[in-house]
Amino acid sequence: MSRTLLAPPPAAAPLGERTVTTAGWACAARLGPTVSRTPATVLRVPDRPAREGADGLEIAAWSPTCELGWSGRRPATVLLQGCAWQCAACPTPLLRDPMVGGAVPWAEVRAGLLGGASADGDTAGVDAVVLSGGEPTRQDGLVAALMQLRELGLATGLRTSGAYPQRLAAVLPLVDRLWLDIKAPAGLYRAATGAGASAHKAFASLRLALDAGVELQVRTVADPQLLGPADLAELARHLHDLGVRDHVIEAARPAEG
Ligand code: SF4
Repeated sequence: MSRTLLAPPPAAAPLGERTVTTAGWACAARLGPTVSRTPATVLRVPDRPAREGADGLEIAAWSPTCELGWSGRRPATVLLQGCAWQCAACPTPLLRDPMVGGAVPWAEVRAGLLGGASADGDTAGVDAVVLSGGEPTRQDGLVAALMQLRELGLATGLRTSGAYPQRLAAVLPLVDRLWLDIKAPAGLYRAATGAGASAHKAFASLRLALDAGVELQVRTVADPQLLGPADLAELARHLHDLGVRDHVIEAARPAEG
C-alpha cells in the first residue's frame, strides 16, 4: 500500500557565523572555513593539486546526524558542494555553486567516522552515511566514497534530484537507501528547476531506481508559489501509477544564505 505523507519542515539549527541550516534538504551541519555566506566570492583555488577518487570530493560539511528517517539506522550526513539546477524553492542555495571548493577533506570525514567524533558531535553508534548536497551525483568521487563506506561496514544512503540518470545508474548498486526528489508534475518541472529537460532526467532516474529495486523514498517539496493541491494530487497519483510506494510531501521552508 502506498503512502503520501505531509511532512513538517525540519527544525532550524542556530545560524552562526559559519553555520547553515540544511535541514530543508537533508540535515543540519556545520560549514567549514572556506565556505562563506557570499559564495560568489569564494572560488576554487586555481593551482590546487588535482585529487582523485573519494579524495576529490568537494565536501561542504558533514554531521553525525541526519533528519531523514532511516528505520533501524543511525546515519551521519555528508553534504557535497555544487548543483547545476536553480530551483526556486532550493533550501540550500549556499550548496549550489559548483565553483565553490570543498571545505572538508574526505580523509577528515573518514577519520571522524572511524574515530568516533566530528566537529558537530559524537559519531559513536553511527552505522550509515547519507550523501546529499547540492547534487552528489555530479561529483566523480562518489563511487569511490560509497565503496569506502561499504568497506568500513557502513550502510550507504544517497539523496539526489536525479539530475544525472547515467551517473545514478552507476552508483545504485552501491546504495542501500535512496531519497529521490521529484519536484513537480512533468509539465511544471522547468518552472521548478530552471533547467530544460529536468523532468526527463528526474523521471528517468526514478525509473532506474524502481527497476533496481533499491529501498526508495520519493520526496516532493511543496513550493506554494508553484504547486497547488491539485498539482500535488496529480503528482502523487502519477508516482503511484509508476510504482512508487513511499512518497513524502515536504513543506517548503525559507531558504537561508
Ligand atoms: S536540485 Fe536541490 S540543491 Fe539543486 S537547486 Fe534544486 S533544491 Fe537546490
